[in-house]
Amino acid sequence: MQAVHAASQCRHCKEEIRAGAAKCPHCLGWQSKWMLDPQSPRGILVVLGILLLFAVPLLLLTRATLFRDPDQGLDQLVISESEMHHSTVDSGRFVTVVGKLRNTGGESLKNPHFEVQFFNADGKLIDSLASNSYNLIIPARSEVSFKVRGVADRPAREYARYQIRLTGVSRARIF
Ligand SMILES: [Zn+2]
Repeated sequence: MQAVHAASQCRHCKEEIRAGAAKCPHCLGWQSKWMLDPQSPRGILVVLGILLLFAVPLLLLTRATLFRDPDQGLDQLVISESEMHHSTVDSGRFVTVVGKLRNTGGESLKNPHFEVQFFNADGKLIDSLASNSYNLIIPARSEVSFKVRGVADRPAREYARYQIRLTGVSRARIF
């Protein structure tokens, strides 16, 4: 028994082809309107449309990631405790502030920057330290210890009071 095929017309060359044929035997043009077919401007438009559909949100996401405030994580960080120490060794006098840093947010942070100011008994600023703790990662919702250390310009007895603050931090992940 021979199958009977209804005749149809090729979308491109208009030759007679079998109804439902995927490809035209004459011009080899694809018959589906969804196929990417160089002879079908519609197929190209469909593909371009799909690309745009994905490209636009991706571009917006990338832009939001690249241009957001790098110090936005600062309000997640709290210096929960800190202490000042002096040490005198052969190489000189040093002042150190050690403490704990708590990340209250849901995003991991790294490389906190600190500024420490030292005051004498009269409240006069006598020394300062600016430091960043490279490679220090503060995971989300956890506490880590830190240390800021530098050469002490004055003798230990002059360091009556200090003030430490965070001046910057980076996100541990880019996305
Ligand atoms: Zn054809």
